[in-house]
Amino acid sequence: MIELPSFTPGPPIAISASSFQKFLRCPDQGLSHFRGIYGQTSRDGWIGQLVHRLIARDLTDGPIDDIELVARIEIGSTNLNFDLAAIGRPSDIRRAIAEAVEVYVQFRHLPRPELSEIEVSIVHDAGGDVTLKGRMDGVQVTSDGVSIVDWKKGPIRPETRHQLTFYGLLWVLERQALPNDLQAISIQTGERASFPVSIADLERTVELVAGLVHDVRSALLVDRQLSREPGPWCRFCPILDGCGEGQETVSLLA
Ligand code: SF4
Repeated sequence: MIELPSFTPGPPIAISASSFQKFLRCPDQGLSHFRGIYGQTSRDGWIGQLVHRLIARDLTDGPIDDIELVARIEIGSTNLNFDLAAIGRPSDIRRAIAEAVEVYVQFRHLPRPELSEIEVSIVHDAGGDVTLKGRMDGVQVTSDGVSIVDWKKGPIRPETRHQLTFYGLLWVLERQALPNDLQAISIQTGERASFPVSIADLERTVELVAGLVHDVRSALLVDRQLSREPGPWCRFCPILDGCGEGQETVSLLA
């Protein structure tokens, strides 16, 4: 259904929906990820991850009674534990947990689709030492077909579509069937966006993935930087200290 190209040769590379988004936002920040230089998790990102753990528990086992206790268990048993230092002192951590609990309670009040699969992880060998991977919150099957569903803690942003189309591509590569649509649901606003999936969109995503592989492998080969696109994401960029454009943007946004 979708043909993958011959990728520019180079070292093994694993592309997730989030590293793909990172690269599209700022290629040099994306490159730093593939060099193994990871940024500090933002407070917002940490809370978002915790909310997703709570949602996954709810979807799998039903509504959570003691939400704070389950949140602490999730933190202790996942990577969230390693990022606690980024959140701050114990009182800051307590506040961050309380925020995640609040968002989860909002989630419980939203109408939700009936999911036939929850937390769908796909790892696809794309050939040429390229792996594509992602984890979708859920999949709904209706008479119209398959919908890939993803909850967002905050508002639905334009870049959400890139992430969802990447999931759509993974689905097609692994299941050999075109999803009917890609759905994003904002817990904060209750907004629900549905993006239809077309072969043309998926082919465009394949081109972007091939471009990423080419740019990253070429840059790694000669140890050069890629283009820099400053924005709010600079604040948590792991190479901010060496990026004048990023520092300027951070001080303008402060
Ligand atoms: S600081 Fe900003 S502009 Fe510079 S590399 Fe990082 S994300 Fe890109």
